[in-house]
Amino acid sequence: MIPPGSTIGMLGGGQLGRMTALAAARLGYRTHLFGPEGRDSPCGQVAAAVTEAGWTDREALARFAAAVDVVTLEWENVPTETVEFLAARVPTHPGAGVLAVAQDRLREKTFANSIGLATAPFRAVRSAAELADAVADLGAPAILKSTRMGYDGKGQVRIHGTTDLSAAWAEMGAAEGILEGWVDFALEASVIVARRADGVTAAYPPVENRHAGGILDTTLAPADLAPAVAAEAVRAATALTEALGVVGLLAVELFVTTDGRVLVNEVAPRPHNSGHWTMDFCATSQFEQLVRAVCGLPLGATDALAPCEMRNLIGDAVNRWPEFLAEPGARLHLYGKAEARPGRKMGHVNRPR
Ligand code: AMP
Repeated sequence: MIPPGSTIGMLGGGQLGRMTALAAARLGYRTHLFGPEGRDSPCGQVAAAVTEAGWTDREALARFAAAVDVVTLEWENVPTETVEFLAARVPTHPGAGVLAVAQDRLREKTFANSIGLATAPFRAVRSAAELADAVADLGAPAILKSTRMGYDGKGQVRIHGTTDLSAAWAEMGAAEGILEGWVDFALEASVIVARRADGVTAAYPPVENRHAGGILDTTLAPADLAPAVAAEAVRAATALTEALGVVGLLAVELFVTTDGRVLVNEVAPRPHNSGHWTMDFCATSQFEQLVRAVCGLPLGATDALAPCEMRNLIGDAVNRWPEFLAEPGARLHLYGKAEARPGRKMGHVNRPR
């Protein structure tokens, strides 16, 4: 057990690190940020200590490891070598093996299938010619995604019957891709599971996620699902968490089909945008739960206290902050980012529904 008063090392300086640091502080922990973004980042602004350094700076990593009691992360694309280097010196959760799967869409889907969980049909593609073969195999419509580094709809191209496949391959813009058969889903859902090193798990209820322009716009919690479908979503997410051996959090994005099947889309071994509702409508926020899980504390209650919605404030939408402060029952969270660029997550609002 890593008791209150200890220091949590955080890899990554974004809003997920910021909200984890705030939750950690409430439980008496200090947070030490490591990452290229430094003091001015959303996490750096609230961290007790900051090491501004690159992911491969071994000297800085060794100093950081000596200064913290446990390491976790808010960005799953931290190089696995960085995590291995730290794990040799200080408990580091999640581990490099989890990241290796979560950083790669092909590995994610292959892993899910290997433990008996369904996904969209998919094929690996490494050239325009392989793309043509894969489209012939899976049919159109389909969706081409880069296997690595894609998020918020980046590196993704929709494929229709008339799509020029050479142009689509070039537009995707990576050396390796995955072609996925189109899923005619009824809704998109996600489940966040916490797991401690001793294997104890706790899952939040499934939520519904609505996207706009490829970016999460609104989360409705809990999702309006038939009890058997909700139970299957929790079972699938928990099975993935256990099979991967995650310590910390695993967010699992799912498609629910019109006939009630649950397909795994992708996983993230960290706090997730679709879990922000827990900050105000759950006894234990996902950020506090991460702290509890990596420090070996008892996991907290995960039930929704009331039906609620989380609305992201993206780009200029953040300028509406006075409106949300004036709205009874609405809870505003801002991330301390100076510049409201289009598509940039600036904050969110939680409110009852
Ligand atoms: P992802 O980055 O995998 O979460 O994909 C971004 C969004 O594209 C998802 O939230 C879905 O709305 C849509 N999408 C992704 N994959 C598929 C698929 N195989 N079939 C239909 N829609 C998809």
